Amino acid sequence: MSRNVLVFAESRNGEIRPVVLEAITVATLIADGASITAVVMCDQISMDLQILAHYGADLIFVLEDAKYLPYCSEIYAQALFQVIQEVHPDVILFSHTTIGKELAPQLASMLKAGLISDCTSISNKDGLSFIRPVYAGKAYERKRFIGNELMLLTIRPNTFKKRNPDYNRKANCVSFVPRDNVVSNLLQTIVKNTVDVIDLTEANIIVSGGRGVKSAAGFAPLRELASVLGAAVGASRGACDLKYSDYSMQIGQTGKVVTPDLYIACGISGAIQHLAGMSNSKIIVAINTDPEAPIFKVADYGIVGDLFSVVPMLTMELKKMRS
Ligand code: FAD
Repeated sequence: MSRNVLVFAESRNGEIRPVVLEAITVATLIADGASITAVVMCDQISMDLQILAHYGADLIFVLEDAKYLPYCSEIYAQALFQVIQEVHPDVILFSHTTIGKELAPQLASMLKAGLISDCTSISNKDGLSFIRPVYAGKAYERKRFIGNELMLLTIRPNTFKKRNPDYNRKANCVSFVPRDNVVSNLLQTIVKNTVDVIDLTEANIIVSGGRGVKSAAGFAPLRELASVLGAAVGASRGACDLKYSDYSMQIGQTGKVVTPDLYIACGISGAIQHLAGMSNSKIIVAINTDPEAPIFKVADYGIVGDLFSVVPMLTMELKKMRS
């Protein structure tokens, strides 16, 4: 069955976020030949929006206004609500990012529609169904919507393989100015201490440190390894609680959920709450002095050793390979 799909094309610093291209790929599976509309909201368009067409969008709604930066959920939700009333989609897709996690349930409530969040897999056989993790990633459930009412979904970044782009595809861009119904006024934005340049949720490689790094300075060798690998740096809550690292880097049940191709855990024991945030990584490497550490149970490669000698050795070897 074909369905019209609307994709919220989240942008950051003037760029479409990579997960949006995954979302559009998912949209092509769901649409099954029907139309895919992407909606971009930002203060100033500085990017080539046709990238959305290359991945499958047929139409692009552009909402360009200074009020879209900084992000304010009410402004975004009200504007999106009006786009939805224009487009009449059957399915609305968000990325499972901080913004997507806030907007999707808000809109589901405004539209009186159902929402399945954090989808990691989708099947279009015998009707649409979606797989998502439950119990902090210990189990997975398959869900489907009852009936054919409007469906909202969020998809986990770095989980769906992007389709090959077709650079000949072009989409019409439609400028849209929503009516202003907003009642709240954003007075101040709190700028978080964003330590890392690469977004953890979209990183392909993550080097992560735990209490085993022993101090804030102990993260230095991890940062060096990360810079050679082009990786982001993450941390366990143990490391964050001890102020070795900023909470914006925390991975786990109460931190960020990540799905990189390679996750290198240094001095992290592998508590269930940490595993909840990283066990879906494609390859896990653990470096730990304790051979009984639970992290080795989920690791594809384990190194029993002191991270302060293993990590610099790895960095040195990688530098040699690159020179
Ligand atoms: P530890 O458990 O102390 O492990 C340190 C490891 O370093 C040990 O295995 C040790 O052998 C090794 N080590 C020591 N020195 C070296 C060395 N020189 N070289 C190599 N290895 C060394 N935790 C999270 O990470 N993320 C979460 O989101 C999260 N949410 C939580 C939510 C709740 C409700 C609760 C109750 C807990 C949560 N936790 C979370 C905390 C979690 O239970 C663990 O306490 C935490 O993950 C432990 O961090 P750690 O592995 O860095 O420290």
